[in-house]
Amino acid sequence: MNPYLNEDYNAIREGVRALCAEFPAQYWREIDEQKGFPEAFVTAMTQAGWLSAMIPEQYGGSGLGLAEASVILEEVNHCGGNSGTVHGQMYNMFTLLRHGSEAQKSYYLPRLASGELRLQSMAVTEPTTGTDTTKIKTTAVRQGDKYVINGQKVWISRVQHSDLMILLARTTPLSEVEKKVDGMSIFLVDLREAIGNGLTVQPIANMVNHETNELFFDNLEIPVSSLIGQEGKGFRYILDGLNAERTLIAAECIGDGRWFNEKSAQYARDRVVFGRPIGQNQGVQFPIAEAHIELEAADLMRWRACEEYDSGRKAGAAANMAKYLAAKASWEAANACLQTHGGFGFANEYDVERKFRETRLYQVAPISTNLILSYVAEHLLELPRSF
Ligand SMILES: Cc1cc2nc3c(=O)[nH]c(=O)nc-3n(C[C@H](O)[C@H](O)[C@H](O)COP(=O)(O)OP(=O)(O)OC[C@H]3O[C@@H](n4cnc5c(N)ncnc54)[C@H](O)[C@@H]3O)c2cc1C
Repeated sequence: MNPYLNEDYNAIREGVRALCAEFPAQYWREIDEQKGFPEAFVTAMTQAGWLSAMIPEQYGGSGLGLAEASVILEEVNHCGGNSGTVHGQMYNMFTLLRHGSEAQKSYYLPRLASGELRLQSMAVTEPTTGTDTTKIKTTAVRQGDKYVINGQKVWISRVQHSDLMILLARTTPLSEVEKKVDGMSIFLVDLREAIGNGLTVQPIANMVNHETNELFFDNLEIPVSSLIGQEGKGFRYILDGLNAERTLIAAECIGDGRWFNEKSAQYARDRVVFGRPIGQNQGVQFPIAEAHIELEAADLMRWRACEEYDSGRKAGAAANMAKYLAAKASWEAANACLQTHGGFGFANEYDVERKFRETRLYQVAPISTNLILSYVAEHLLELPRSF
């Protein structure tokens, strides 16, 4: 059965589309032009319960699976919106749900589900270590009933629109651990208390309208109760959430790709040059057809990843491959769409250039394409590890 046609998912699609209809292209265009944050959209998504889809019912969420969550984010992008403004809440909640103590879960999850609190941010990347995460230099040193944080992070998104942030920091120096993946821990930082008291936030102007920041930690003190799970196991906990994150990103790219392909086909049917629709020329048709084929193929891998994850099987291979294929397919669809629109593709009012910039991000963040290729080479093809 084609999961795209699954009736349960169709109900979700229709619900998300109805909400997105309240936030048409004009809304996103203006937010983009103002480099603003779509507060009203995020609030509407929260109040409608879409962002708490995967929070278990006992904590006030809907207890749905990754497949359903992926449909929600896919539809936001399919409707022309930007799921990057809300997806953090879905990914970051996993870490808390899977590794948080019962006290942490029962305090935070119902508040996240109701929208009283937002957990939109996760701070992993650092300016001097990049993708080589085990070399991070941000430290958390225990002093009595506190941890003291020092260091720097970069590209940390939605900090200015979140109450809480998951932070990865070294609690044992790299030189003192047997395995480089050990000795890092994750903390739930209350941004409302931290900013201005040891945490400084510096926004980064960037190509997409994506609120992202450099963070400076200067003796930030957080209570020991902020630690999630066991000290020293944080990197493993982060890795644990990656398969879900990559699958959701894949679905977001599928949504973008559908938006581009539909937009391309519509324009190619409507635009008349040389006395006929441009879409009558094979030179215009074929890139759109190719983008459609590649997107459909990527979508199959996305569903495989959802199915493996939701049934509790190992989803690493499918999640990585789905993210790779979908990010590539949405980018090809974006290129075809821009080309189909000719000069008008560059005009803001067509929204193509905005979505073009937005979908390009997914070949770099949250994981770059090369790192997925190295995962496949090493873990699936048993080639020697390259780094
Ligand atoms: C808009 C935006 C939002 C972001 N949001 C967040 C966030 O909220 N939280 C967070 O923690 N991070 C975030 N990031 C960071 C993002 O995850 C990183 O940019 C990404 O993981 C790549 O790291 P880097 O930029 O340091 O690149 P580098 O690690 O410096 O790599 C640069 C290039 O070299 C390639 N490369 C590096 N090493 C190898 C190798 N061994 N083999 C082959 N190729 C290699 C990479 O693939 C990449 O193309 C965000 C980034 C952006 C742009």
